[in-house]
Amino acid sequence: MGFLYCPPLRVFGESIAGEATCLQIPEFDLGFDIGNCPRMMLSCKHLAITHGHMDHIGGLAYFCSQRRFQGMGNGRIICDERIAPAIKRMMDGYVDLERQRTPYDLVAIKPDQPVEIKNNILLRGFETEHTCPSFGYTVSERRTKLKQEYLDLPQEKLRELKDRGVEITRSFEIPLVAYTGDTAPGPHLVREDVRKAQILITECTFLEPDHKERARVGMHMHIDDLAEWLRVVESQYVILVHISRRTDMSMARKRIAQVAGEKLAQKVLFLMDYKGNRERYEAQLAQAGVRKPDAEPSSDDHRA
Ligand SMILES: [Zn+2]
Ligand SMILES: [Zn+2]
Repeated sequence: MGFLYCPPLRVFGESIAGEATCLQIPEFDLGFDIGNCPRMMLSCKHLAITHGHMDHIGGLAYFCSQRRFQGMGNGRIICDERIAPAIKRMMDGYVDLERQRTPYDLVAIKPDQPVEIKNNILLRGFETEHTCPSFGYTVSERRTKLKQEYLDLPQEKLRELKDRGVEITRSFEIPLVAYTGDTAPGPHLVREDVRKAQILITECTFLEPDHKERARVGMHMHIDDLAEWLRVVESQYVILVHISRRTDMSMARKRIAQVAGEKLAQKVLFLMDYKGNRERYEAQLAQAGVRKPDAEPSSDDHRA
């Protein structure tokens, strides 16, 4: 699986355009899409599906079945209410094929309907633009803060107000992760919780200059769309997925720098850049003063 450490969160996954996409954020017990089902995906307690293309949903029945088989409980599938009936029909098809019923939980949601996946961690879907009904998702953390006018009051006074039923706090949300799924550019890309998510995971299926028309027809992102969007994106990390198999990573990095400029390109990471991401992670460990677990003691250690 591809792996990126974007403190404090980790992003795991596999994603190749047209073949399979599945992503996982272990800190939230959350998966996005399940085109295939590597073993690691089984640990996702919540699985949010963006759309019904086979490369995003092909492993779903297997995921539900394996979770039961391994004693991990029901798969919990969160999806756009427009595709929930088709998912149910697909799962019903397996009941006929297997002559047994795999239990699963299906949570069909409307755009912007929050689902609490952990204490104060909210998942929401939003409509995107693709060749079939499609959703993107955001994950936000809800925090509460004392209202300005009560900041200087002593604890006991605050407690008294609270006991009287006065609302002394206000709540707000911090967007942590956004995942667009497959999408053409559109107004959903500039939603505040997308643009400002600390980690923004998005597709970029077409990087070659002459593939603009193909991107438009398939309702995917072309690198020129990405470059334009990056100018208004405030995310700390932009992770690109759904790159085609023919794309060479060093070429991809060069193209981003060409079209978006070196500065904006710096925040762009490729989930499937195994080599680059391993080097990046080793540098992160070194910076944190952690030695690689498999590292041999160096001669310096003996001298000390
Ligand atoms: Zn796809
Ligand atoms: Zn698709």
